[in-house]
Amino acid sequence: MATGKCPKCERALSNIKVQPVNLVYGPKHLRGGAFVCPHCNTVINVSLDPALVADALRRSSRR
Ligand SMILES: [Zn+2]
Repeated sequence: MATGKCPKCERALSNIKVQPVNLVYGPKHLRGGAFVCPHCNTVINVSLDPALVADALRRSSRR
């Protein structure tokens, strides 16, 4: 988890909000999370849902 300052409002990020987002990857829609500054609601980072990534890796390694 990223820690430090928000690049926009420069306040310390002791907490980061995670909002669910849809990631459109070609024809696929993946579930992800947007990491949002709790002070100014700037999106700092977006990442795949970690549980979903683990599941996809597990499935692809079986093939
Ligand atoms: Zn901020």
